[in-house]
Amino acid sequence: MEVDQRGRFVSSALEPVTERDLAEVERQLGRPPRAIRAIAHRCPSGHPSVIQTRPRLEDGTPFPTLYYLTCPRLCALVSRLEAGGVMREMTERLATDPPLAEAYLRAHRDYLAERNAIEPLGTEVSAGGMPGRVKCLHVHVAHALASGPGVNPFGDEALDRLADSWPAGDCAAEAGQIGS
Ligand SMILES: [Zn+2]
Repeated sequence: MEVDQRGRFVSSALEPVTERDLAEVERQLGRPPRAIRAIAHRCPSGHPSVIQTRPRLEDGTPFPTLYYLTCPRLCALVSRLEAGGVMREMTERLATDPPLAEAYLRAHRDYLAERNAIEPLGTEVSAGGMPGRVKCLHVHVAHALASGPGVNPFGDEALDRLADSWPAGDCAAEAGQIGS
């Protein structure tokens, strides 16, 4: 069992990828998933919602995004949040809320530490704009779901804002009802 500096399990929730998961993720993305390493989170209806990917693609290209949101329903809900301008507002708050900026910096370091434990890419670039900006909420929601509450403040916040829409219900049944 891997444990980080604060004694938190870092990989206990990761599940190996089954053939069924692979087929489901391919259906969700509309293409075969690249560099998939593990299932990091599932929706209540059982399908993968977050995959962990290897730090390099099969051809060696660096792929710094460690956690990738795959559930089409959740992706659409997060896109809708993004379209409402929440990322600009979150980025602005980083300048005026030191504890928030500190928590976001910790999230950035956690992300790098987990990725480096798999394979160091020799870069301090994490994902989603961390630690200075908020560029992609999908990245933060995926990180929050994979890591649990209290790790990625903007991922947690986005999930709070979506609490009325997700994780209730069966994503597969409702996917067609959500516009982006
Ligand atoms: Zn789902």
